Amino acid sequence: MNISSSEVIYALNALLGEGGILESSQDMSRYAVDWAGDRLGSPLAVARPRTTEEVAGIVEFCHRHRVPMVAQGGHTGLVGGALPDAGQPELVISLERLNQIREIDPLNFTLSVDSGCVLQTVKDVAAEHECDFPLSLGAQGSCQIGGNVATNAGGLNVLRYGMMRQLVLGLEVVLPDGRIWNGMRALHKDNRGYDLKQLFIGAEGTLGIITGVVLKLFPQPQETRTALVAVPDVFAALGLYALARRSCCELLSAFELIPRACLELAFEAAPDLPDPLETPAPFYVLLEITASGPVDLEAMIEHLFDSGMQAGQVLDGVLASSDAQAARLWRIREAMVEGQQLHGEHLRTDIALPISTLGNFFNEANRAMAAISPQTTVIAYGHLGDGNLHFNLLPPAELDLTAKRVLLHALETELFAIVEDYQGSISAEHGIGRTKQTAFLDGLSELERELISDLKQLFDPDDLMAAGRILPRVTDPAIHYQSQE
Ligand SMILES: Cc1cc2nc3c(=O)[nH]c(=O)nc-3n(C[C@H](O)[C@H](O)[C@H](O)COP(=O)(O)OP(=O)(O)OC[C@H]3O[C@@H](n4cnc5c(N)ncnc54)[C@H](O)[C@@H]3O)c2cc1C
Repeated sequence: MNISSSEVIYALNALLGEGGILESSQDMSRYAVDWAGDRLGSPLAVARPRTTEEVAGIVEFCHRHRVPMVAQGGHTGLVGGALPDAGQPELVISLERLNQIREIDPLNFTLSVDSGCVLQTVKDVAAEHECDFPLSLGAQGSCQIGGNVATNAGGLNVLRYGMMRQLVLGLEVVLPDGRIWNGMRALHKDNRGYDLKQLFIGAEGTLGIITGVVLKLFPQPQETRTALVAVPDVFAALGLYALARRSCCELLSAFELIPRACLELAFEAAPDLPDPLETPAPFYVLLEITASGPVDLEAMIEHLFDSGMQAGQVLDGVLASSDAQAARLWRIREAMVEGQQLHGEHLRTDIALPISTLGNFFNEANRAMAAISPQTTVIAYGHLGDGNLHFNLLPPAELDLTAKRVLLHALETELFAIVEDYQGSISAEHGIGRTKQTAFLDGLSELERELISDLKQLFDPDDLMAAGRILPRVTDPAIHYQSQE
């Protein structure tokens, strides 16, 4: 940085006007913490632009004066990506005021928005026009579209609609030197050379700041059936998934695996939730099918139940008979995440495996965790239809914080080694950020490291934007390819 913090604040105040820059520690406090309560350092200041041109002005200024910066959305990423650095002060660029709906085209099934729009708002706007924006996740009341693009978010309906990568048609991005790339195209087909927008999707803000997004919409579902099914084990759940994919005419939109231990966590967080079935079962599947035209979903789901029972895959089940009952079933899915938060320090993961290997992986990983720490509780649930598990670990409550962290690190290392053996991924949702960096780098080939580092160099040669996320900080080109440990 070739300028003092007060000069940065003075110049950006002039650029953004009143309320555009926050500098007191009290005002900045909420920008230094994420959804889970994690903190690292304090921002140099927080810039809150309202337009793409303001974002470009801030970034150009930072580029000229070598001021480190990081984009921030709704703080729900949970891998430390959006949190300001603890070592070198960074300017946080919050997109929360860049939040206008730009254009909806219901015939083209597209919606153009500013990147700071909250996901739930986008879904509501689409619904007002009898359209559906299908990205659905627990954090949708807080996370922003820009954050969703930057992390290539997935959620509950990936098996039918794909991840953000499949849901974005166009992007507008401010590059690390302040130039604006306008790729706001609303084309469903476009094969002109390289697809630049894909570079920024999942780049976690390391290659540019996303300011505008053209989203792909779908017809709004008219009919929905939600069911919770008890199954004896993960293999039965996988068998039922295969049946459902083949018998539900591509209308299957969610297929979630929930072990009994997760139900208990949900009851801890929401004691008013009723146990959905009379007899407890080892595992449950929460599934949903939706249709936007006249289809007999009831018959479809009953046929699935019958076939599953005959195959010994289904023990019992409940089909929601009202929207309220369906919402209660989905509330279990939300509450079990809140229940984990009540247990303090724990390990959260978002791994992915080929779906066909999930049963063997599940058993092997459980055995390996028990061998290291029999008292640790495995909470493994997730989007089974995408091969994506949250294989989370609650350490024994009696350990102190340091001992818990040491144990969780050992368990995580072993878990990721098994994921690697199964040719899986250590991150299917939250991305790399800072917390998964070492494991990410360890899993790359030399060629992959080189290509990824060259890409970062091309876009951000001074390493000013989201430095130290995904790749280590480039303070010395000689240590370019080495991990931080
Ligand atoms: C309860 C809960 C449930 C969740 N469920 C899911 C799930 O089912 N599936 C899933 O995929 N994820 C899930 N997540 C993770 C999270 O919601 C997503 O990663 C989300 O996309 C992050 O968006 P955000 O706006 O909160 O981004 P932030 O957390 O603010 O930022 C995340 C990263 O994106 C960068 N960034 C943010 N905005 C921009 C921008 N405009 N331009 C460039 N970079 C930017 C940040 O620098 C950071 O690196 C869940 C999180 C929670 C708390």
